[in-house]
Amino acid sequence: MATEQKPVGVAVLGYGNVGSEVVRIIENSAADLAARIGAPLVLRGVGVRRVNANRGVPIGLLTDDIDGLVSRDDVDIVVELMGPVEPARKAILTAIEHGKSVVTANKALLASSTGDLARAAERAHVDLYFEAAVAGAIPVIRPLTQSLAGDTVQRVAGIVNGTTNYILSEMETTGADYASALADASVLGYAEADPSADVDGYDAASKAAILASIAFHTTVTADDVYREGITAITPDDFVSARALNCTIKLLAICERITDADGTEMVSARVYPALVPATHPLATVGGAFNAVVVEAEASGRVMFYGQGAGGTPTASAVAGDIVMAARNRVQGGRGPRESKYAQLPIAPIGKVSTRYYVSMDVADKPGVLAAVAAEFAKREVSIAEVRQEGVVDDGGQRVGARIVVVTHRATDAALSETVRALEDLDAVASVASVLRLEGTNP
Ligand code: NAP
Repeated sequence: MATEQKPVGVAVLGYGNVGSEVVRIIENSAADLAARIGAPLVLRGVGVRRVNANRGVPIGLLTDDIDGLVSRDDVDIVVELMGPVEPARKAILTAIEHGKSVVTANKALLASSTGDLARAAERAHVDLYFEAAVAGAIPVIRPLTQSLAGDTVQRVAGIVNGTTNYILSEMETTGADYASALADASVLGYAEADPSADVDGYDAASKAAILASIAFHTTVTADDVYREGITAITPDDFVSARALNCTIKLLAICERITDADGTEMVSARVYPALVPATHPLATVGGAFNAVVVEAEASGRVMFYGQGAGGTPTASAVAGDIVMAARNRVQGGRGPRESKYAQLPIAPIGKVSTRYYVSMDVADKPGVLAAVAAEFAKREVSIAEVRQEGVVDDGGQRVGARIVVVTHRATDAALSETVRALEDLDAVASVASVLRLEGTNP
């Protein structure tokens, strides 16, 4: 009988959005969890900063002595839900040194680690699980590390930040500019007081680093991820996107690429991109997340759902707790991280994709030919070009805009072309450059 087994002791660090929901699940689903694990799960303590704050947890369970809690003999699993990088790293390393398995949702910490946490877990023969660190409730870490372990992953592309997806969806559906869509997201609680981690792409870059590491068996940190945010996206970009039957999404892309000399590399990057309306990621609206994995044998596999929020994130954390607890009861460990490939990281210049370039130009003959010549000089082949008049508020034609969509080219060639366009007398300004993802060459 499950209840006759020695209990599995759990310490939860953090009683905020996620921690409080994890504690609720442990308490409300005690009987079911015990049956699934084969032993009862017992909450030994909850680590917080302010022990005296009013909480729905018995005061006797609360402590601010994190070191003391994670090294208790009756704790088997430490669940770190404090954030940010410190004091979480120290607490996790102390827990591992004391032989505890660890579950964490701390993407910033994981994406800054060059493997010290995994190595410590390896030495101590304990589990280190982090399903909740990427895309909240959506299972992506376990499918990549276990279900697809026999396949060769080529590409992982996803919408992994709900705040920016909400803002871009708002801009698309209402025609709002970036600032008002951000203000809306703040009122609804989707954006933090300081939105930089989301809108500048840092949060998505942390998740890209974690996904690239496990998909390609290579150490990838957030610093290795090329990053652009969404703050420069304008309503005009959405007008152009619609004309191309596309939308705009902030994508995290992790890709295995092969250099001209045959060297395999890993590219991890985050940027807003045009996505064709027919692509599965185009329909992911509001604060939802989705991740598409492309592997050699499986083909395309997609995961979709709630990527943040206390309760959905707690679901993924609780799943990890059950896995770690089962391993304790059965006397083993789960699959561990594998970094055997250690592929080099590709600089953004080597990455090849399609582009959309829009520029304001002089309204006179020969401009289009001059623009096209700059693309041709750098072997950036043009797939589509559109020239339209720009009118002022009174309907007077005051200039022209040229929009170019390219075939596949390297980022280096495209960047050079854009610099050359900016130097052309006939080009007043390059208004926007966006990648076009999710299409064939
Ligand atoms: P939160 O609401 O800010 O809660 C943080 C909790 O940690 C609070 O209870 C706080 O104690 C405690 N804490 C912070 N610093 C501490 C310290 N130095 N010592 C002891 N306790 C400390 O955070 P959250 O939103 O639940 O996020 C927790 C973690 O989950 C973060 O790593 C986050 O990135 C990750 N995550 C969150 C979400 C989400 O939707 N919220 C989704 C995925 C991943 P007090 O209550 O006493 O201040």
